[in-house]
Parts: sequence; structure tokens; C-alpha cells
Amino acid sequence: MLGGMSGKHRMRPRKIAGERDLIAAIRKRAGQHADHLSRGILNLGIGDDCAVLRPRRGRDIVITTDLSLENVHFRRDWHSPQSAGHRCLARGLSDLAAMGARPEAAFLSLALPAELTGKWLAGFLEGFFALAEEHAVALAGGDMARSPLVVADIVLLGSTPQGRALLRSGAHAGDVLYVTGALGGSAAELDALAHRSGVFRSPGRAGHPHLFPQPRLAPGRKLLRLATAAIDVSDGLSTDLSHLCEESGLAAEVYRQDLPIDARATLEQALHGGEDYELLFTSSPETPVPAHLAGVAVHAIGRMKKKSKRPQVEMVDGSTRAPLAARGWEHFR
Ligand SMILES: [Mg+2]
Repeated sequence: MLGGMSGKHRMRPRKIAGERDLIAAIRKRAGQHADHLSRGILNLGIGDDCAVLRPRRGRDIVITTDLSLENVHFRRDWHSPQSAGHRCLARGLSDLAAMGARPEAAFLSLALPAELTGKWLAGFLEGFFALAEEHAVALAGGDMARSPLVVADIVLLGSTPQGRALLRSGAHAGDVLYVTGALGGSAAELDALAHRSGVFRSPGRAGHPHLFPQPRLAPGRKLLRLATAAIDVSDGLSTDLSHLCEESGLAAEVYRQDLPIDARATLEQALHGGEDYELLFTSSPETPVPAHLAGVAVHAIGRMKKKSKRPQVEMVDGSTRAPLAARGWEHFR
């Protein structure tokens, strides 16, 4: 543990040479935004055997964990270390966004080959901390080990008002289905990376939906007042909508002409491409949902229905109707 990095671990693989220095450097980096620590639930961060959390009255703690594996979730020849660090944290933050949660603390366990502990690790941490600072989430602990491939395991803690976390199961028949931002951009950029096309050549982090996805935390918190159910689009619209239907015990229809498709993406990528990290949510037809939430566009794309003999999700295109099967995109296939 970084939040307990005192070398008392018995069951663990060989340590990285110079681990103490590395941890000291990470601790210093994490401490640079220590001001975030005092206003959250984190009472004690890196440097002791455990991190100490003090939940506040009237709030629930929500927790999510995500594994980022080299050659499964990223490739070192396609993703810069900054992108790998950003994406590792973005995946977990997006889960917090889907619950309407405020991020509180992150725990990062990282295993990597010895030759990557220099420049590559510095880039990874740069990407990680840039996003962490943007969303005021403190790195409160973790662990480090040597491994033939990079493995980054992240645990994120967030908080919501007590009993108010947004769930996948809260939708009602007749609710309107909405999505934030645009769909398919991440799959399109991944495709461009694979084919070395320069379509996504914008400088900086903006305009790179795959390399630097933006978790929708601020819109997610606004959904606490608006949404009946929510999920983040991590596996693709078709798959994530089927999860929402499943958990709410409903069916849904999606209107082809209302789908916000990234200008560089195909319909196929918008429907089944993964890792857009937009929010898919439902709201009562009586609830006025603004066209933008915290500066992010919101589009009504369909409607929730009672389950029937028809397919669980259908796409309506003019006068035609076709089943929309869940076939979320899989990594590097
Ligand atoms: Mg999720």
C-alpha cells in the first residue's frame, strides 16, 4: 500500500528496484493536491499502513474497481503512457459519474516491467494526476510490483447523498431515454490508431475520445435530481442499454435519427463501440431535462417500454423497426 507502504507485505512478488524512491516521488506528487484531502472523507492518506476515511453524516460511500491490462485495455505502441494513466483513472471515474457520485479518493496498484519505471511511469503518472486534479480526487494509497506486462488496478471511492445513488434499476415504462455527448468517437479513434490514420490529430487531450475520454462527473451529479436510472456507456450503447433494461425489468426503443453520433464515427461504432464513457439515463416524461448538463449536450434517444414478446431493445428508423442486439465492442478484436 502507498497508504501503508511500509514494506510489511509477506505475499508479494519481487519488488521494483528503487521502489522506495518511486514511492517517495509518487507520494510527493499526491501530496501536491493535499488541499483536496481536508474537505473530503479522507482523513489520512499515503504514508501509513492504511488510509483512514471518515464518512460524513448523511452520505453513502460508493466504491468501484477497474483493472487495466497491457494488450487488453491499452497497447504501449498505440497509447502514450499519459493516455494509459488517464484512461486507468477515467474508467473508474465514469462509474462514479453513473451513480451520481462525487469522487473522494483513489487507490492505485501498479505492476510493471523494471525498464518502464523511468520515463514510462513518469508519463503514466502525469496522465493520471492531470485527470485526478481536474476532478479533485486524491490518491490515497496503492501498491507497486514488478511484472512482465503493465497491470494497473484502481479502486475509486466516491460519495452520494444517503440513499440517493443512481441505479440501473430505477427506470419506469414510459420514461424517456437520454445520452450525454456523442457516441462512437472512442471506437473510431481506436480504429484510426490501428490503421495509423491521422484523423484524430488534435493537439492536447481534447478531441481524443479514445486516448483521453472525459468522465461525465458534473453531469452525473446533476442527474441526481433528474434521472430515474443511469449507467455509463463503457461497453457500447447496445450492451449498456440492455443492462439498464435488464436491471429495470423493461424493454426499450431507440430512434435512429436522434442518436448523437461523433462526426468521425460510423453508426455501427455509435451503437456497439465501447469506451465512450458517456452517461445513458432515463427520466420521467414530466421531468424537464435541459439540453446541456454542466456544459455537456444531452440528447433524448428513445423510450423505455414494458417487456413484451418483442426483442428487448429495438431501433426505430422511420417506419422500420429492427432488433438492436447487445454486441458491445470487444478490445482489440
Ligand atoms: Mg460502468
